[in-house]
Amino acid sequence: MSLDLPFDNSYARLPERFYERLAPTPVAAPVLVALNRPLAARLGLDADALASIEGLQALAGNSVPDGAEPIAQAYAGHQFGGFVPQLGDGRAILLGEVVAPDGARFDIQLKGSGPTRFSRRGDGRAWLGPVMREYVVSEAMAALGVPTTRALAAVLTGEAVMREAPLPGAVLTRVASSHLRVGTVQYFAAKDDREGLEALVAHAIARHYPGADGALDLFQGVVERQARLIACWLSLGFIHGVMNTDNMTLSGETIDYGPCAFVDTYHPLRVFSSIDSQGRYAYARQPEMALWNLAQLGQALMPLIDDVGAAQGALDGFAPVFQAEWLRLFRAKIGLGDGDDEEDGALIHGLLDLMATGRADFTNAFRALGTPLARDEVLDPAAFDVWERDWRTRLAREGTTPEDRAPAMRQANPALIPRTHRIEEAIRAGVAGDIGPFERLNRALARPFDPDPDDADLARAPTEEEVVPRTFCG
Ligand code: AMP
Ligand code: MG
Ligand code: MG
Repeated sequence: MSLDLPFDNSYARLPERFYERLAPTPVAAPVLVALNRPLAARLGLDADALASIEGLQALAGNSVPDGAEPIAQAYAGHQFGGFVPQLGDGRAILLGEVVAPDGARFDIQLKGSGPTRFSRRGDGRAWLGPVMREYVVSEAMAALGVPTTRALAAVLTGEAVMREAPLPGAVLTRVASSHLRVGTVQYFAAKDDREGLEALVAHAIARHYPGADGALDLFQGVVERQARLIACWLSLGFIHGVMNTDNMTLSGETIDYGPCAFVDTYHPLRVFSSIDSQGRYAYARQPEMALWNLAQLGQALMPLIDDVGAAQGALDGFAPVFQAEWLRLFRAKIGLGDGDDEEDGALIHGLLDLMATGRADFTNAFRALGTPLARDEVLDPAAFDVWERDWRTRLAREGTTPEDRAPAMRQANPALIPRTHRIEEAIRAGVAGDIGPFERLNRALARPFDPDPDDADLARAPTEEEVVPRTFCG
């Protein structure tokens, strides 16, 4: 079976200072853990060839497929508010870009593929836990309809990775519409490299914003896509956890599934990441942090925009787009159509407040709306009854009822999300050599709105003993 990937590497044609050319570092004994056949088909790749010995060698980084031009990309970034002029791919190699049958272009990147010029003190490797987590969560996000990078494959390397203890090493094959980040722009801005900035902006426009005319248009496009993305995260209870500018794409896709988590017991200031001690990236702070990041993008683009008022105007576009999208998504969650009612925001916030004080499970409370189970999700069912009366009154104004709206609401409120305790359980099993729970999670999460009845247990909120209060970058 020959591995024939349709590479066309536009990023590798950019100036040499955009990256380091280097091949992945080979590993001892690769074993395929997962191959995403539907994604391979979407990319126009031959899944059987990827699963062959030759494919496995490529996915592990032991051989470089024909047409690939492996590089580690340079970028900078604000990490928790502090600027680092050089970060870059410290443990990832972009093999190249493939053009799918429909013409869409995708980066194929190996993550955990060995040290690069950008590794600093890191070992360039990943262990199985974070690889499994990124695989499960990014694929679940895709099934939930969220713009995101994807996972094409996961392989074990047969080598140990040293963390607190030796752990099984792994490589993830990540697919993205690009790996252009806010931090990529910042890298060239920080070097006062105007030519680099111009080349990057032209590349980003060609790739993601074909109608855009110049840096201001690009900026406006990124602001709008990110505003929509963050609204989407909030509507699902997703907390990214490490929204540094190097982890924010120009394409508007979610990237970097490190200490992310879906909220279980809802609270607006919920934080999971062990390194986010100040709560900078708490659930409800994500819009504000995205806006902060976008202000850094505007700053980095200033040499090309050259009009502070226009840049500020583009940035001011964030709030209205975010608010409209947030309202649209949450209205759908409570069964309201595309109409408009000034009080809908208050109605939705009323429910969220009730869920916060009532310690409701975010996902299950929304999924249960309109059924008798909803009031059991909150500590104070009487308070819920008051809200529900208002809600029914509002639906009645649209000539409808919760019962009528139930099928539509099931498409807006997933039954299944990748719950952290389930992911941790799958990782524990995987480290012990059993990938069954990981495979089951992936299978179930492909149908989040309409789960197989056999997967009903995966919808259950964690018990007190099962709750995972902290997540780690890995
Ligand atoms: P992240 O927090 O995942 O966004 O990573 C921030 C930076 O640290 C990026 O430049 C990564 O490439 C780098 N990095 C993270 N883990 C490692 C590692 N194990 N080895 C080398 N570089 C790493
Ligand atoms: Mg990152
Ligand atoms: Mg990361």
